[in-house]
Amino acid sequence: VLCTGIIEPIKSGIRDPKLGVGKQEEDDFFTAEENIQRRKLDIEVEDTEENAKKREVLAEREQKIQTEVKEIRKVFYCDLCNKQYKLAVEFEAHLSSYDHNHRKRFKEMREMHGTSSRDDRQKREQQRQEREMAKFAQMADAHKQQQEQKQRQQDQQQQDEESGSVSVPTAPGTTTALANQDQRKALKFGFSSKGGTSKNTTGSAAKKPKVAVASVFGDDSDEEQ
Ligand SMILES: [Zn+2]
Repeated sequence: VLCTGIIEPIKSGIRDPKLGVGKQEEDDFFTAEENIQRRKLDIEVEDTEENAKKREVLAEREQKIQTEVKEIRKVFYCDLCNKQYKLAVEFEAHLSSYDHNHRKRFKEMREMHGTSSRDDRQKREQQRQEREMAKFAQMADAHKQQQEQKQRQQDQQQQDEESGSVSVPTAPGTTTALANQDQRKALKFGFSSKGGTSKNTTGSAAKKPKVAVASVFGDDSDEEQ
């Protein structure tokens, strides 16, 4: 059997001019005495003070480098997109990119609209509060009026009893209630315009206040004309 290949194993340590650049150095490195054996693991290495110090120094240096790099890269950081770039070229490309500009326009728009919408919301809230206050005031007014009406009704009844005549409030129904209101209004006007005179005139029937009011209105209108 003819054998044309290399029979003997490749020898190391022989300077062969036919090898490529750096090939000899590579071979030398991997065949060196300290690199033939397996590198010991961290736990296998005896933890001497010297080793510890060496590790510390290395770690410190690494950290320092990292912080410095971070400081340098701050220039290539986009706050808007929350993106970090390593090179100026990359950063510039980002600044002119669609993503960045879209985000920028969106932010501007939101800022512009955000304030107006906030104002709108405030206005609406204020209006709502005003409406509520008005409602409460109305309710309070209604309550007060009701009480006043009751009071007047009682007064009227008392007056009627004093005068001894039969008056309208005894009859139930809405129409009579309206009539009562009219009478009460009349009474109010009567009291305000004439003071205690209407109350003092107990001799006549309950119709008297109405008459008095009519006269008051008539007088007013006459004076105005
Ligand atoms: Zn950006």
